Amino acid sequence: MRAKCVLCDRIDTIADDDPLAKRLRNRPIHTYTCPECYNRISAKANKRLEKK
Ligand SMILES: [Zn+2]
Repeated sequence: MRAKCVLCDRIDTIADDDPLAKRLRNRPIHTYTCPECYNRISAKANKRLEKK
């Protein structure tokens, strides 16, 4: 299946037997984030946690 990253609009192809593809199919609300954006977000989140 193809999934569009909500952050950078990149379209990635995910294998149909990938657990992520299954999750996206079962929960349409669950939006896809490409690995690059995911890393960017988690890096930001980690920084925020460190400041606290
Ligand atoms: Zn992205």
